Amino acid sequence: MNSIDKLTEYFIKFPGIGPRQAKRFVYFLLTRDSAFLNELANTLKSLKSDSKMCQSCSRFYSSSNYNSALCDICLNKNRDTDTLMIVAKDADLTNIERIGNYNGSYFVLGGFISILEKNPEQKVRITKLLSLIQTKIKNSNLKEVILALSLNPDGENTLNYISEKLKPILENQNIKITTLGRGLSTGTELEYLDDNTFQNAFKNRG
Ligand SMILES: [Zn+2]
Repeated sequence: MNSIDKLTEYFIKFPGIGPRQAKRFVYFLLTRDSAFLNELANTLKSLKSDSKMCQSCSRFYSSSNYNSALCDICLNKNRDTDTLMIVAKDADLTNIERIGNYNGSYFVLGGFISILEKNPEQKVRITKLLSLIQTKIKNSNLKEVILALSLNPDGENTLNYISEKLKPILENQNIKITTLGRGLSTGTELEYLDDNTFQNAFKNRG
């Protein structure tokens, strides 16, 4: 396969990118000079080695500035330890942090579970989540687990799956499970949620 087709195939694998957009990226790159392309190639090469997955919340963070197994959010002593928000993807977390009115901790599931999925435990980090919650029950004042998942069929299926897994652990612990409330319409993607909609949904969680 030639480089144009090969690179197009790579871009098609990106989330939300179709064949036409993929081709546009390739032609854009062809108009750049070699310094730009080299810089891009080097950044790609070092992306994995400069980044880590947080041992607590499972989000990806840049580890080039400091050496810790925990990300800056988990290390931040000013964050509340009584709430844990569960999101599907890093991009959802980034958007909620940008909006800025949530000050608790997070857990990134790493994906969704679609309705016909036969091995849900391979699609989301459920084992890691359950052990994080066990640790939090022992060591912190956890009071609420917020399921912040997009309102689409996969999101709702994931929400049901996670709730079922959490119920036996949270029972008798005085820890409530909440979901984002009204204000979210069907099809809403957390990644693109605007400030007002999120703030309302957060306030009306239950
Ligand atoms: Zn973290």
